[in-house]
Amino acid sequence: MDTELFCDVSTGRCHPFVPKKFRRRIFETLHNLSHPGVKATVKLVGDRFLWSGYKRQVAEWSRCCVSCQRGKIQRHMVSPFGTYPVLRHRFDHVHIDLVGALPPSRGYTYALTCVDRFSRWPEAIPLKDIKAETVAFEFYANWIARFGVPDRLTSDQGRQFESRLFREFARLLGVKVVHTTP
Ligand SMILES: [Zn+2]
Repeated sequence: MDTELFCDVSTGRCHPFVPKKFRRRIFETLHNLSHPGVKATVKLVGDRFLWSGYKRQVAEWSRCCVSCQRGKIQRHMVSPFGTYPVLRHRFDHVHIDLVGALPPSRGYTYALTCVDRFSRWPEAIPLKDIKAETVAFEFYANWIARFGVPDRLTSDQGRQFESRLFREFARLLGVKVVHTTP
């Protein structure tokens, strides 16, 4: 598929201009990583993409997110005592997933999403393909280089994250890899 991609490069970073039909998907992909607040979601999108009126639209969508509203109600309730495993450190347990195919941007059509289970810090790493070596290397270069090696790495991607990928990670990073059932 030949698609022209317009980018705003005035900030020194490439911000692809997102056509209408992909906007909602971009929002969902980034927002659903950790359901951050309205401002944080606008920033997540604005740091990576661009379309006219995106701030207003993303803010509106964030406010309407059902999961976020449910989360707000739960925060007022008393949690059952002692039922949650406590993670002691930030970035000990990272949850990763593949997103795509997305509208191409400089040849990137996939994203590797990484969420720290402790802080819920989300990141999206652009990928050119989803080969095990590529994913493992990009995770290493973009996440591990800054946050260190996680003790645990989980994913609910199932098939796409074949055991080959996990072996690649384990080989590259020396981490314990845990498969979760979707
Ligand atoms: Zn939400």
